Amino acid sequence: MSEVDEAAAPAAAIPSLEEVRALDRAHVWRPYTSSEAHATRDDLIVTGASGCRLHCADGRSYLDATSSWWTAALGYGHPRLVGALQSQAAQLAHVAMAGATHAPAARLAQKLSQIAPAHGDPLTRVFYSDNGSTSVEVALKIAFQAFAQNGEPERQRFLSLPGSYHGDTLGAMSVGSLDEFGKVFRPLLFSHNDEPVPKHEAAWRAFFARLTETLRRDASTIAAVIVEPLVLGAAGMSMYPAALLHDLRQVCTETGVLLIADEVFTGLGRTGRRWACDHAEITPDLMCVSKALTGGLLPFAATLATESLYDRFRGDISRAVMHGHTYTGNPLGAAVALETLNVFDDERVLEQMAPRCEAVSAAFTAMAGIPGAVRPRALGMIGAIDLGDGGYYGTRGWAVHEAAKARGVWLRPLGDTVYVVPPLTIAMDDLTQMLDVVTESVAEVSRV
Ligand code: PMP
Repeated sequence: MSEVDEAAAPAAAIPSLEEVRALDRAHVWRPYTSSEAHATRDDLIVTGASGCRLHCADGRSYLDATSSWWTAALGYGHPRLVGALQSQAAQLAHVAMAGATHAPAARLAQKLSQIAPAHGDPLTRVFYSDNGSTSVEVALKIAFQAFAQNGEPERQRFLSLPGSYHGDTLGAMSVGSLDEFGKVFRPLLFSHNDEPVPKHEAAWRAFFARLTETLRRDASTIAAVIVEPLVLGAAGMSMYPAALLHDLRQVCTETGVLLIADEVFTGLGRTGRRWACDHAEITPDLMCVSKALTGGLLPFAATLATESLYDRFRGDISRAVMHGHTYTGNPLGAAVALETLNVFDDERVLEQMAPRCEAVSAAFTAMAGIPGAVRPRALGMIGAIDLGDGGYYGTRGWAVHEAAKARGVWLRPLGDTVYVVPPLTIAMDDLTQMLDVVTESVAEVSRV
């Protein structure tokens, strides 16, 4: 059951629940939310968060099964992250990264290159931006320009996976394939993959075989392949075997096509290894990192690249990457990111995940016994199951959302896909409670 929350902010310190609701309905335009839902649905009004719980204005707290859109890998309010943010804010909150630099950005770049996948050409260079989408934009532009200014301007195409999601900016959408996000913008996009999301391993194998053929046949016109390594999050946690990614790396190397790994969701432990690429023992040419990098405290992202890619930009200003955001490399974000990575080391976060990963896997495997619940899957701290074939617009997942909320767990389904992506450091008791609630809620909805 939801707990009455001692830690919720005192009512006097914040506007009343009704006031926030009224202001939100009158003035806020919320993402991925229909105007009907916005006008009628009583979404949570969150006043605070700590550990793995969201504290709400209605006096309840909820175990967050989504880690706030997959960011809060270390839970909420980690004292070291909060401390890093406070001390950096007192020292230097922001400075332009063109014409100036600073210690947090420099040290973070070194740290990221030290911990990047190390199975091939090392990722020695770090380009900063603000969020997952922009980290993808940067990767696409670097790949395109690298060929354009080095004698292969005909390499202009980008290939991606069916079901891919790489963000909501137009470039990132061009390499995405989910109609729910991109269809209306199709005329503006430079590319599109309209193959359906493979639902089984055999379908994934068949897709990768076709991709290999395309790469071997058309390499001279292809700049890069972009992948969500092993898990396609927004597509409903669709998973494919690491061996397919391993082989793709080889084909990219043979054909001179760049491989971009979008580790925005999968990076920093989510799949049970530091990088999803580590399962496949590959190093991509470009790698996008965001979300967990700042632990849910700040918008921040990094695009990592090999030294040989950086070499293709050597020269005068006409050869520079003409891309930058006002808050690129923001010192607050960089300081929090660096502290996040240090906490991963000091608290041995990756080393201690195994029992939690096993619990997630066991719970979702067992859910397959519930009538109507199909395709259980798990990898690391990701567990998912489908309640039908309605995809992103399916409503059964939302019924589970309501059932779980009544029991004190907050999850956000992807249509008919119910999933959990808890903080990597969640206490075993909390994890057990979360998984029990999800199981009961799926069972309740399957009876209707
Ligand atoms: N890539 C992947 C794999 C993602 O899952 C997401 C966001 N869910 C993005 C990119 C875009 O990140 P952002 O929302 O921070 O722009």
